[in-house]
Amino acid sequence: MQANATPPEKVIEISQVTTRFGDHVVHSGIDLEVHRAEIFAVIGGSGSGKSTLLREMILLQRPNEGSIRVLGIDLQKLADADALALRQRWGVMFQHGGLFGSLTVTENVGLPLREHTGLGNRLIDEIAAWKLAMAGLKPEVGAQYPSELSGGMMKRASLARALALDPELLFLDEPTAGLDPDSAAGVDELVLKLRDLFGLTIIMITHDLDLLWQVADRVAVLADGKVQGIGSMAELAAMDQPAIRKFFDGPRGRAAQELDQDKPQALAEAHKPIEEPSSKPK
Ligand code: ADP
Ligand code: MG
Repeated sequence: MQANATPPEKVIEISQVTTRFGDHVVHSGIDLEVHRAEIFAVIGGSGSGKSTLLREMILLQRPNEGSIRVLGIDLQKLADADALALRQRWGVMFQHGGLFGSLTVTENVGLPLREHTGLGNRLIDEIAAWKLAMAGLKPEVGAQYPSELSGGMMKRASLARALALDPELLFLDEPTAGLDPDSAAGVDELVLKLRDLFGLTIIMITHDLDLLWQVADRVAVLADGKVQGIGSMAELAAMDQPAIRKFFDGPRGRAAQELDQDKPQALAEAHKPIEEPSSKPK
């Protein structure tokens, strides 16, 4: 990098965040920054506080201590009216989709537009159709109900809804969890496309090593309430803290690295979750 290069614009700045549930300390002094138009991932074992951190970034929960700035705004000092405006600048795809079962896919995708804009129904439907296409769904899916969709289609419909208000930030909680390897591989391409075509900043939580190797610019490893390491996957792979090593050692970690070097036979192995290795005895 040149000495006089412009520093990256920080779209999220987390400083000394501590979160407790009763006596249980989930975060004890988390620091991290996300830069504009990067694909940033948070990884860590089950219960390490990834979803809680995400919920704190999107105003669903408050840390006990520390500060979180999103798009330059300090979340702790935010008035309710400003919170409403800020929420419209990000989209969230929750782990379990969160679509309304009584609404069609088009109606689900149009919902944020109905709530937050004064647009007419026809225009809302047209925008919803465009968002479905962006998320890689065929137009006819719009008339279907969530119960008629496969897991992969459900995730894409949820993504289309997250994109409804043209957000600057996109939060993804486990975008490939529960998908078969082929559908999961489609998510890799989709995430890259959204960043490259629309300049979105993407913050994702994932256990999917393949997704991490294929798309993440930087990755933060959470364990024991702290960020244990932060960097590209290649940089993390060269670190030797045990909390980081466990993501790279073992058959799944190695398969994902091989896949990064264009060995497609590693695909299925790489997409297996690494969260609870003990649950899948060999
Ligand atoms: P992860 O997403 O990394 O698996 P979470 O952020 O969901 O972890 O949870 C971190 C820890 O905080 C877990 O031990 C969980 O049980 C606890 N926790 C999360 N939310 C709450 C809550 N609302 N009340 C009490 N404990 C919670
Ligand atoms: Mg979680």
